[in-house]
Amino acid sequence: MSIKSTDNQYISHTYKRFDIAIVKGLGALCWDENGKEYIDMTSGIGVNAFGYSDPVWADAVCEQAHLLQHTSNLYYTAPCAELAEILCTRTGMSKVFFGNSGAEANECAVKIARKYAAEHKGEDYYNIITFNKSFHGRTLTTLAATGQDGFHHLFTPLTEGFLYADADDIEGFQKLIKENKVAGVLLETIQGEGGVNMMSGDFLKAVEKTCDDNDIIFMIDEVQTGNGRTGSLYSYQQFDLHPDVVTTAKGLAGGLPMGACLMNEKTAEVLSYGDHGSTFGGNPVCAAAAISVLSRMDDAFLSEVQKKGDYIREKLTAAGYAVSGMGLMVGITTAKPVGEVIAACIENGVLCLSAKDKLRLLPPLNTTWDQLEKAIDVIIGALNE
Ligand SMILES: *Cc1c(COP(=O)(O)O)cnc(C)c1O
Repeated sequence: MSIKSTDNQYISHTYKRFDIAIVKGLGALCWDENGKEYIDMTSGIGVNAFGYSDPVWADAVCEQAHLLQHTSNLYYTAPCAELAEILCTRTGMSKVFFGNSGAEANECAVKIARKYAAEHKGEDYYNIITFNKSFHGRTLTTLAATGQDGFHHLFTPLTEGFLYADADDIEGFQKLIKENKVAGVLLETIQGEGGVNMMSGDFLKAVEKTCDDNDIIFMIDEVQTGNGRTGSLYSYQQFDLHPDVVTTAKGLAGGLPMGACLMNEKTAEVLSYGDHGSTFGGNPVCAAAAISVLSRMDDAFLSEVQKKGDYIREKLTAAGYAVSGMGLMVGITTAKPVGEVIAACIENGVLCLSAKDKLRLLPPLNTTWDQLEKAIDVIIGALNE
């Protein structure tokens, strides 16, 4: 049987796949089972920070796999300790909990906010404010955190205690805090799945101040915006924010499953022995991959990400399209249905994503200038077609 028919017979139909079976890749290029080449502007939804099968990344993974692949969290291992140190040093945060996904990182964040509030204000202070159009994951708690009704339908009751605010409406946000017993706030600086919607810097600062004034845990979901994607290691660093908790995953280990929940000095000691855990969390192979990824994201690399993002914005703006996002996280408002644009791009050897009704690009951060120019020409052709 073919890859596609076997998959369709045996894999639960939770994904509407494109009619492409990818068999190998290198950097921003990949090839399907018929040998057709594509330039990939998706990086596995912001996961493959250095593209497909990057040789430096692959060596780091193989070396660790040959040395020690897993021990359980009953023992110390070098890679996760070293990775936690890198994350804290480069963010100013104090402690890290490792899980395997974005949803798990956010679950950890919610537990931290609730325990902090329970201990400081009382157990009835359990509410978490998130934002309309947000996306925080697929578990029942992170679905509840996700401010999009469509995802909730038929899966209720979800975890209770989530309230939804509108981005850029500070009065509405403050009213929710006055009228409810709130433990924490969780937001994306740029909503990814919700349509590459940017929150304004002023609004983010006002949310942070309101949280500080009310002793509410301020949490930023950097699952998609993190790990170099927006041209800084984490996007909040460009808004001069000081979150109490930062979650990340997707690009962190460059293609292996890893999530992290970072805590500042205020939240570092909230969780203690037995409060949380994960069998695979901090896995040495994933941690070695993440060390390799983060070590390569120096200032020169991040400024190159900015430049590539600027290039995409200039080209698309000049072609008459509205563009949102930062760095290599790009949302494009299309004139015709986004599905048609994606199909035309596939025809011409470029893979793109959508986010609601926008075209979304999350290219590998090391996409070459040549690949980027070719892909953007194809995309503009498809948008104009
Ligand atoms: C993808 C995503 C998640 C969920 O991550 P998983 O690894 O799929 O659990 C959470 N938050 C944001 C902002 C995301 O983009």
